[in-house]
Amino acid sequence: RLYNEVQELKGNIRVYCRIRPFLPGQNSTQTSIEYIGENGELVVANPFKQGKDTHRLFKFNKVFGQAATQEEVFLDTRPLIRSILDGYNVCIFAYGQTGSGKTYTMSGPSITSKEDWGVNYRALNDLFHLTQIRQNTVVYEVGVQMVEIYNEQVRDILSDGGVWNTALPNGLAVPDASMHSVRSTEDVLELMNIGLMNRTVGATALNERSSRSHCVLSVHVRGVDVETDSVLRGSLHLVDLAGSERVDRSEVTGERLKEAQHINKSLSALGDVIFALAHKNPHVPYRNSKLTQVLQSSLGGQAKTLMFVQVNPDGDSYAETVSTLKFAERVS
Ligand code: ADP
Ligand code: MG
Repeated sequence: RLYNEVQELKGNIRVYCRIRPFLPGQNSTQTSIEYIGENGELVVANPFKQGKDTHRLFKFNKVFGQAATQEEVFLDTRPLIRSILDGYNVCIFAYGQTGSGKTYTMSGPSITSKEDWGVNYRALNDLFHLTQIRQNTVVYEVGVQMVEIYNEQVRDILSDGGVWNTALPNGLAVPDASMHSVRSTEDVLELMNIGLMNRTVGATALNERSSRSHCVLSVHVRGVDVETDSVLRGSLHLVDLAGSERVDRSEVTGERLKEAQHINKSLSALGDVIFALAHKNPHVPYRNSKLTQVLQSSLGGQAKTLMFVQVNPDGDSYAETVSTLKFAERVS
């Protein structure tokens, strides 16, 4: 069954929508979520407007409702992780407005409880588990990079994080970012903590900074077949994108306006790239942003892309929700 799933995903771009639950203090009686179908249908409506015209139908590969657990969400991601060891490049994104659950889906609310683990940790756990199962036939090396993209600048947030390993980089590595050799999920957790701490440098609060920059965790796998000596490379890029909310130009100036423009530019560049790939356009406009440049070698070709579209169910977020869903619909 797993094999079939991998086949089915081949060369595909998948879009999963995830609706986060209401948080304490949010008014759950005014929601924009009208209906969630079994086959990826989602109907949203503006709870503050009457009439049928306000309803909108979207269709994705899958919609996870408010009750979906981290484990359920990962089950549908799992086949992609397996394919990395077969030499595929996989990119997983979380897209949505600030507060919609991007970090929750990718990393989880905490790492102390395994139940809370997001896609990142579960994926790495699977990856290491699989390499151990196969260790008699294939010898694997795993390397990790972590960069932040802020105002169209790429910053290595692991530059002081440990050992350099020059054997691992390959065509898929993020240029000029340090590569760290890892042997277990714990090794990666440690590096990610260092990265997250480095991310806050110069920012008033992590939350503020993280909503206005993209964070890219790249995992590179190199497997050498014990018998034939043949080498297989795969990679996994896990991307927690900057908040997609549109900023009112009349209300922000200076630094904030610049940030907003950079985010806007890079998210629409990402949308354009995925759109071009999904429609098999001969020209894929990778050069239009740092984000798409960094991910160029892992998007397209043999790569598999999964986008989590995150939604805040609150009625007040209706306009943002529609714009998020439209973005996702365009690329799916
Ligand atoms: P973002 O990264 O998009 O800004 P967060 O992941 O930080 O959003 O989520 C915002 C808040 O909602 C956090 O308090 C987070 O714990 C909570 N949250 C998000 N998704 C879920 C979920 N599926 N279940 C429970 N709480 C969630
Ligand atoms: Mg976040």
